[in-house]
Amino acid sequence: MKLIVVTGGVISGVGKGVATASIGKILKEYGYSVTAVKIDPYVNVDAGTMRPTEHGEVWVTEDGGEIDQDLGNYERFLDIDISKHSNITTGQVYRDVIQREREGKYLGKTVQIIPHIIDEIKDRIRKAGNNHDFVLVEIGGTVGDYENIPFLFAVKSLEIELGKKNVVYVLVSYLPTPIHMGEAKTKPTQQAIRMLNENGITPDFILCRAPRPIDEVRRKKIEVSSNISSEYIISAPDVASTIYRIPLNFEAENLGKKMLEKFNLGPCRNPDWKRWRELVDNIENPREIFTIAMVGKYVGIGDFQLADSYISINESLKHAAAELGGDVRITWIDANELEAGGIERLRNFDGIIIPGGFGSSGVEGKINAIKYARENNIPFLGLCYGMQLAVIEFARNACSMTGAHTTEVDTNTPYPVIDILASQKKLIEHSKYGGTMRLGAYAAVLKEGTRVLDLYRRAGRLETDGKAMSTMEKFRLGIIAKHMFCKLHNSLDLCNIPSNASVIIERHRHRYEVNPKYIEQMESKGLVFSGHHQKEDGTKLMEFTEMPDHHFFIATQAHPEFKSRFGKPAPLFLGFLEACLKK
Ligand code: GLN
Repeated sequence: MKLIVVTGGVISGVGKGVATASIGKILKEYGYSVTAVKIDPYVNVDAGTMRPTEHGEVWVTEDGGEIDQDLGNYERFLDIDISKHSNITTGQVYRDVIQREREGKYLGKTVQIIPHIIDEIKDRIRKAGNNHDFVLVEIGGTVGDYENIPFLFAVKSLEIELGKKNVVYVLVSYLPTPIHMGEAKTKPTQQAIRMLNENGITPDFILCRAPRPIDEVRRKKIEVSSNISSEYIISAPDVASTIYRIPLNFEAENLGKKMLEKFNLGPCRNPDWKRWRELVDNIENPREIFTIAMVGKYVGIGDFQLADSYISINESLKHAAAELGGDVRITWIDANELEAGGIERLRNFDGIIIPGGFGSSGVEGKINAIKYARENNIPFLGLCYGMQLAVIEFARNACSMTGAHTTEVDTNTPYPVIDILASQKKLIEHSKYGGTMRLGAYAAVLKEGTRVLDLYRRAGRLETDGKAMSTMEKFRLGIIAKHMFCKLHNSLDLCNIPSNASVIIERHRHRYEVNPKYIEQMESKGLVFSGHHQKEDGTKLMEFTEMPDHHFFIATQAHPEFKSRFGKPAPLFLGFLEACLKK
């Protein structure tokens, strides 16, 4: 195992996640297999219960983890699925050690931070890195944070085991430019380096984040004061255009070759940045600008707009726009503002998105926006709650089901078109809320002749393409392996699917479902349910819905934004923007 440890200096939010993802992308371009681990020093076991306005979006992994959003950047840059086990929190580490202690697994020993907690951390890093040439380990927060100490100790301990030649340390640091001086200052970075030194760590690379590229004077200053050759002091200026520019910037400083040299390695192949560069160019010099209204809930926080709570959707739109030669301008609209009018402002946008959400806040505003999109033929994409609310809107306004609702908001609705399944109700009665969430990858069978099927087929995202398939064939294509993996995590059931079905896999994070009782009635009025998931007990869960006569009206129970990658946009986002373009 070769380890690259990324830490942050001076302030948090300095871009460690994107820097880590960019280093990984570069090594991948040189022909190496790479994975990444995020260490979050907080005591929460995972990010599932954190407020998005405080911590940013909750990222959902294929195996149903609710994780810090940095894992999303790794997947988007590296084009790999990363397991929930690649996110390590203080809470998980202590929970498992204490559990083992209670089970008597430590045989009468005193259980201590050193070695037991440290061993647990090392073990988790080792497991996550298994079968890869490189594992990047990003330690959240900044060096000097009290809660980071065990993690720094653990990577140092891994260094002793693996040998220094197999470990490289990267410090992503910030160079502030006080307005009254107009000069980038290196002192805080020098101090961050010293703090790493206190943990026995000398950084091999310093990535200097600053508004502008770092100049020779300041490179030298860091070299002289910290004994790190200026060759390894890499410029990481702010990028205004797109984060996908960052690996290209790093490569302009030969970061990849320098990194490989540190490991005594050479390239396995010549990097091919052609397509990546083209897409970045598209964003920077767009031929098209797509204007999208995203009607959501977690929008304003004090004086700030928190775009981070929908980061994967923002990125998915960017991926799709870049593919079509352009860029997006997203306007985040607080759904509450659309409850009592003001709906006409939606006319100014190419398309409307209703993202996922929970609870009653802003719900009527979102429903108003959906009605407006449906009636005015404006391209519409509904994601998770966005699909549920589209079904409610259709039931109320096209099927005369006055007062139709989700039982999440109105338990006494006369038409519970969105409801929880009977099996889930039982779990809730026993207060097992956790067990009622549909989390992670689930397979859906798509209906022939639908737009959704066409979009997934064109994007090459069908697992099985409507052709009869033997078990052997499924095995050969890795479908059985995927099935086994997801089965282990209580999701996805591919083998129950007819052998000639068109199947896709998307990630989920929700509790309520379209109520089967009303499907026929809604279909008779023109709403098409274009895909479903079949549970082992035979229950069908609706996964996609679309309106054939509309310019583009598609909604899904899934979160396709978790599988969109730079260079491989998610089919629904691509279709949505194509429709915006045509319009
Ligand atoms: N609140 C809805 C549910 O739990 C939708 C969740 C979501 O949009 N992620 O089913």
